[in-house]
Parts: sequence; C-alpha cells; structure tokens
Amino acid sequence: MTAAPQAPAAALRRIAFLLERAREPSYRVKAFRTAATVIAGLDAAELDRRIRTRTLKDLTGIGDKTAAVVLEAHRGEVPDYLAKLEDRYAELAPLADDAAALRAALRGDLHTHSDWSDGGSPIREMAEAAITIGHEYLALTDHSPQLTVANGLTAARLERQLDEVAALNEELAPFRILTGIECDILVSGELDQTDELLGRLDVVVASVHSELRAPRAQMTERMLAAVENPHTDVLGHCTGRLLVEREQAGGKRQRPRPESEFDADTVFRACVEHGTAVEINSRPERLDPPRRLLTRAEELGCDFSIDTDAHAPGQLDWQDAGCVRAVECGVAVERVLNTRTADELLA
Ligand SMILES: [Zn+2]
Ligand SMILES: [Zn+2]
Repeated sequence: MTAAPQAPAAALRRIAFLLERAREPSYRVKAFRTAATVIAGLDAAELDRRIRTRTLKDLTGIGDKTAAVVLEAHRGEVPDYLAKLEDRYAELAPLADDAAALRAALRGDLHTHSDWSDGGSPIREMAEAAITIGHEYLALTDHSPQLTVANGLTAARLERQLDEVAALNEELAPFRILTGIECDILVSGELDQTDELLGRLDVVVASVHSELRAPRAQMTERMLAAVENPHTDVLGHCTGRLLVEREQAGGKRQRPRPESEFDADTVFRACVEHGTAVEINSRPERLDPPRRLLTRAEELGCDFSIDTDAHAPGQLDWQDAGCVRAVECGVAVERVLNTRTADELLA
C-alpha cells in the first residue's frame, strides 16, 4: 500500500500507530509520539528555520530517525521508514465475513487507558486515533487507586480527569469520550472507588488484578459482589490469564499465568441477572475469556463488550481478534453492547 504525503507531525503519528498496532510495546514507540508533539508545537516559520539551519536535532525529543522523517515529510515525500511500515503492516489479515460484519458493527470501545494511568498517550491522542479508525465513542477507563503500579487515579485525580474529558468533548463533538474507570475488584469484593464518583461515570469496568491465585470459592464470592454492584457495567478480562510474557515500561516482565479459578456458571448467571456485560478482551496476551468460557457465557444469555484494553492509540485497532472469537463462540451482534450508539448505551 502506498501512503499519501502528509505533514511531518502526522507522518510521525502514523508511524507510531502502525508500530503500536503491530504489538510493539508503547514505550518503544514513544520516541515517535514525543517527536510528533514537539513538531506540532512549532509554527511553520520556526519549522522552516530549524530545517534551514539544520537545528532540528537541537530540540529535545528529536533524534536522527525522527529528524529524517520530518525532513522527508517536509519536502512533500512519504518518509522511507513510513513507506516500509505501510508496506509491512498497513493491511491487516482480512477477516472472514461474519467477523468482518461484527467488526463493522462496532461503534466504539469500552476499555482503554491514557497516560493518566499506565497508558502511553494523552487522552486527546487516544480520541483522535479512535476517530481515525471510525469509532463514534471511546470509554476512557484508567485504573483505580489501589493499582499503584499502574499509577491508578485517586478520587481527586479522577475529578480532574472528568474536567479534561468535558473540555475535549466540546471540541471533538460529535465524537464522544465516555467517562469511566477500570475499577479494581478488591479482595472483599468491593469496588476501589467512592460510590459517589462511580455513580457519575458513564462506564465502569470492574476487574480483578490482585490475589489471582485465590481459592475458587473465595474468587467466586469476590467476583459476584462486583457483578452485583449496581455501578458495574462490564466484567473485565474475567480469568486474568496471560498467554505470553509481556514487557512493560522500564523493561519489567510479567510472566504468563493460568486462569484464575471461579465458578463461571454462577458468575455469568449473575451477569445476566444484574445486567453486567462480560468483556471479550482483545489484547493478544489476554484473549480473555478463553473460548470454552465465552461459549458458556453465550449459552447462559450474557451480553458482551468487545474491547481492546488499549494502552496506546494503535492498539485501538485490535478489536478484530475479539470479533473473531465472538463469532467462533456463537455470539450474535445484538448481544454486543458496543454495537449500540452512545445514547443507547447510556440509556
Ligand atoms: Zn485490567
Ligand atoms: Zn485495562
């Protein structure tokens, strides 16, 4: 695929998007996003001057590789590196008809992270990428306070985030950022945020992130309490499994781990009864729930949400994997909440 020439900052962002979608860890892609922000912050005259005087690389955040991209894009060319990536990554493997139809029916994503918690990009960049891939909305679900390793938001920070989202929504309308949280399910089964704040959010994804090896009965009770909580909208990555080792910021590695043990029938029945959707998490290292549990949730009559759990803009394009699994497990389009409009969802 050949790309059209674009402005330097847009070319840098497109490179970042393609790398993220191709599963590069977001911190490794960060140089391109940082450079895009630096270049976008220059006016045209200043960019011209920097190029003429060969002082681009004096700017903090611009290195050899990113400077080369800027120069080529500024000349009206498609940067070499971008052309290579477009060639290698732009075309996703085509989906079979049913999965393609489901993917086309998705209007948004109900589980995403920004740099307010452990994501790699600002809210605005996540929203702009969502617009580019055709979404009508995006639920911003940064982590809750207990998850300190992921810089979970205190109540005060979440309040500030709500103000920022309100301002962005005015600017980006009709696109809509839904306010939200990925709220830890505490060992007690309680949710890790105040009732008052949870009640003000559009979308509450509740997930287990600790004590994943707890005994079956204990884990079942804990999940039931969260599913029955009137604030909970979506049960996030229900088994907590990790299929492959993953690398996080700072080079920390998380080893693969098996599913948590819980009474899935009881939990899924409670999801049906209390109107909590079961998430189909599309992250390549999660693909949670596994097919056998996804099939069971479908048989029991659950609703679903096909989410990316994106921590970087390019990862917003990972919904294909969730659609393939949903179709394989017999999930009908009508049962997938994020095929609905934002207004229908919130009603
Ligand atoms: Zn999570
Ligand atoms: Zn998440």
